[in-house]
Amino acid sequence: MIIDSHIHIGKEELLSPDIVAFFKQKNAWEDIREKISPEGVISALDRSGVDKGVIFPLTFMPTNGNWQAMNDMTADYVALYPQRFIGFAIVNPKQVAESVKELERCRTQLGFKGVKLHPSMQEFFSNSESMFPVYQYCQDHHMPILFHTGASLPSHSDKFSHPILLDDVAAKFPDLKMVIAHMGRPYYQDAALIMRKHVNIYADVCANQGRVGGTTLLEMALTWLKIYADGVKRLLFASDYPVFDPKRGLDDLDFIRKNRCLPNSNDPIISDEEYLAITEKNCTKILLDI
Ligand SMILES: [Zn+2]
Repeated sequence: MIIDSHIHIGKEELLSPDIVAFFKQKNAWEDIREKISPEGVISALDRSGVDKGVIFPLTFMPTNGNWQAMNDMTADYVALYPQRFIGFAIVNPKQVAESVKELERCRTQLGFKGVKLHPSMQEFFSNSESMFPVYQYCQDHHMPILFHTGASLPSHSDKFSHPILLDDVAAKFPDLKMVIAHMGRPYYQDAALIMRKHVNIYADVCANQGRVGGTTLLEMALTWLKIYADGVKRLLFASDYPVFDPKRGLDDLDFIRKNRCLPNSNDPIISDEEYLAITEKNCTKILLDI
């Protein structure tokens, strides 16, 4: 069973206006709006041969202050396609006590399996002690947290999302399963450093296509993680849909598996066994906490 662990959904009225404006300026909004509808996501999964998708909003702070409505939206998608969608909660780092309450609702009433945090968009440092009650809740209830790491949009500050900040979190919460989105792009060495130190840190592979096309950047990232941390064993397949299609992500990984070796070596960057772990086993493992 193939799971795409990083899929964005949304409705215009709940998304941050700056992000919507960003896509409108590129004449891409009509296309994106269709793609992130429940049917749009299902059609992308079907086209790509992906069984299930982990879903959460495209942006994380609606302007009307009712951020819990974003979780209700995710729950609506899951209710429409319960066999295909796995819901991840969002929280509000400016309202931590409310966030812990909301996590209880998301876990017990909405059936969500994890949490997505975007420190750059939500403007908090991912190692901020004020967030520890959220991390404690997730550790106690076996909910993995997917952290955005590395580069984000021009309107957001990347200082909040540096992967090295998660070194502190992993040290304090050794049983909290954390997934660093994008393998820390482009801080692959820092991602490798923390993956080597902390076995509770995983990473997702999405949005590492770079500016030159092909799979060169993805190969470089995978090579760093493999050589320094043996971290390829703890990667999760992800597309960052609608930014990229799951089919493209799977094709890229498959191409690397079949055609690319480590530098000065005949060993593949991704072995057959690792490919299976990335595309099928690891996501199930962290979601079921086994
Ligand atoms: Zn994303």
